[in-house]
Amino acid sequence: MRHLLLSRLLLRRSSAPSNHHHHHLPLLRALSSAPSPISSDAELRKYAGYALLLLGCGAATYYSFPFPADALHKKAVPFKYAPLPEDLHAVSNWSGTHEVHTRVLLQPDSIEALQDALAAAHKERRKLRPLGSGLSPNGLALTRAGMVNLALMDKVLDVDVKKKTVTVQAGIRVAELVNALREHGLTLQNFASIREQQVGGFTQVGAHGTGARLPPVDEQVISMKLVTPAKGTIELSKEKDPELFYLARCGLGGLGVVAEVTLQCVERHQLVEHTFVSNADEVKKNHKKWLSENKHIKYLWIPYTDTIVVVQCNPPSKWRTPKLTSKYGKDEALQHVRDLYRQSLKKYRTEAESKDPEIDTLSFTELRDRLLALDPLDKEHVIRINKAEAEYWKKSEGYRMGWSDEILGFDCGGQQWVSEICFPTGSLAKPTMKDLDYMENLLQLIEKEDIPAPAPIEQRWTARSKSPMSPASSSEEDDIFSWVGIIMYLPTSDARQRKEITEEFFSYRSVPKDKDELAELQARLRKRFPVDAYNKARMELDPNKVLSNAKLEKLFPMLEPVHQAK
Ligand SMILES: Cc1cc2nc3c(=O)[nH]c(=O)nc-3n(C[C@H](O)[C@H](O)[C@H](O)COP(=O)(O)OP(=O)(O)OC[C@H]3O[C@@H](n4cnc5c(N)ncnc54)[C@H](O)[C@@H]3O)c2cc1C
Repeated sequence: MRHLLLSRLLLRRSSAPSNHHHHHLPLLRALSSAPSPISSDAELRKYAGYALLLLGCGAATYYSFPFPADALHKKAVPFKYAPLPEDLHAVSNWSGTHEVHTRVLLQPDSIEALQDALAAAHKERRKLRPLGSGLSPNGLALTRAGMVNLALMDKVLDVDVKKKTVTVQAGIRVAELVNALREHGLTLQNFASIREQQVGGFTQVGAHGTGARLPPVDEQVISMKLVTPAKGTIELSKEKDPELFYLARCGLGGLGVVAEVTLQCVERHQLVEHTFVSNADEVKKNHKKWLSENKHIKYLWIPYTDTIVVVQCNPPSKWRTPKLTSKYGKDEALQHVRDLYRQSLKKYRTEAESKDPEIDTLSFTELRDRLLALDPLDKEHVIRINKAEAEYWKKSEGYRMGWSDEILGFDCGGQQWVSEICFPTGSLAKPTMKDLDYMENLLQLIEKEDIPAPAPIEQRWTARSKSPMSPASSSEEDDIFSWVGIIMYLPTSDARQRKEITEEFFSYRSVPKDKDELAELQARLRKRFPVDAYNKARMELDPNKVLSNAKLEKLFPMLEPVHQAK
């Protein structure tokens, strides 16, 4: 068997935003809080002892971090890990929110090598969880116990121009696949915001773009080769074992390693993107029509403003000849954001920093990240940034045209926590408008609870998927689903600031805090997804849980002896 160990640097993203941060020292705040009155000598000694202890701890904490005395005016020093032993790989997800150190990170370069690796892991009851590009915000692919990555299995195996299909090794990245399809006049039907995923990861989580007539991407899988620990390689399609095919198409890496996939493509095409600023009343009035008339549509909601940015993409033929320019140039659209950043630097940092000419070279998302980094949890500060964002979009109204893969990408900004929800919202003929109700409630909640919520909250739509483990799964062909992505940026490499942001975000995520809450979540998942069927397949294909990790076990525990489940 041949396999390669992944170089530590290959997957480790060094994308920690290079911001200038000052350090909030919670310690200083704790020490400056008013002491309670002290009544007796004994108590005085006790409190003096406490004070000493606190100071000691404070000094220890202070000096154990690499912060100089004038840290307020220095760049943040990223938290440094001790050097890792040579054979230990650090693998983190894109946002740096999940990281594992592992000694086992296999990279087979052929399906035979992959088969051998999984068979050996099965025999020895070792973990070998499939890992794609590691983009998933929840670190779904990660486990310290061992992973397998298909970066060396990234070939295009066959293109059938007539049928508009492509067969690839599942380690190919979406961007590379699109490049390869170009010369055949083909492309993928839809895209997520970025194109760095491996096709395996992209389809296994049922990734999605937007367009109420377009399903999530797993729906484009026509057939696949699944390499399993217990049953070797299985070929699946809707003709060959349809039940397992649909289950494994969006299988969260729990049923096998997808080695090869055949995808349905579409003709390469251009799109005209129309961006404009709207408000809740106008959206409510036009929602049904817009959903139905536009091939791709999304709303970017900006908390604490009445601005909703509407982005519609359609084939050029639908538009007579839109003027492909914006009213404002890029610099004009950005000027007020730069001004806000300069003012904020004066307030939070120094006059000198506000004069940095580099500010004029930053993109909007970079400016937003840097602005947020100055005081990410201060509601008033975040509102100022949101208002600047609303104005930026107003000044960016207009049309642009390009190839679909370029137009459908979206700059999501820097590292971030993401909480995404997907729910049914009727059909195109009869939308329930639950999608707009949801947003109304969400924005009200944000204001009521004074949440420093940054922009945008992205709302998208898809058609249904026939994969039962997809959040957009439905037996009704006409059903449509809305996807709402709530984010909290992590615009800093300061470990403490990241922790504060994380805590703030997690207080609004229903992450189970104890056994009862976990049981509740499991029950909810059981109602929505065919957990028994999923577990039954897992038990058959991977009885030793080679492919599993703690997250999968928590969400889909094999409670019952699986043979009882139907
Ligand atoms: C900036 C950013 C923007 C994003 N935008 C979107 C978006 O617009 N829409 C959207 O839907 N998602 C979006 N995502 C999420 C991303 O598309 C998904 O998380 C996708 O799964 C990532 O693919 P990956 O290759 O990184 O998979 P990983 O994160 O590595 O793995 C994801 C899952 O797939 C499994 N897996 C990976 N490869 C295989 C394989 N060969 N065989 C079997 N299982 C495998 C893993 O075990 C894991 O369960 C975004 C992520 C980022 C960071």
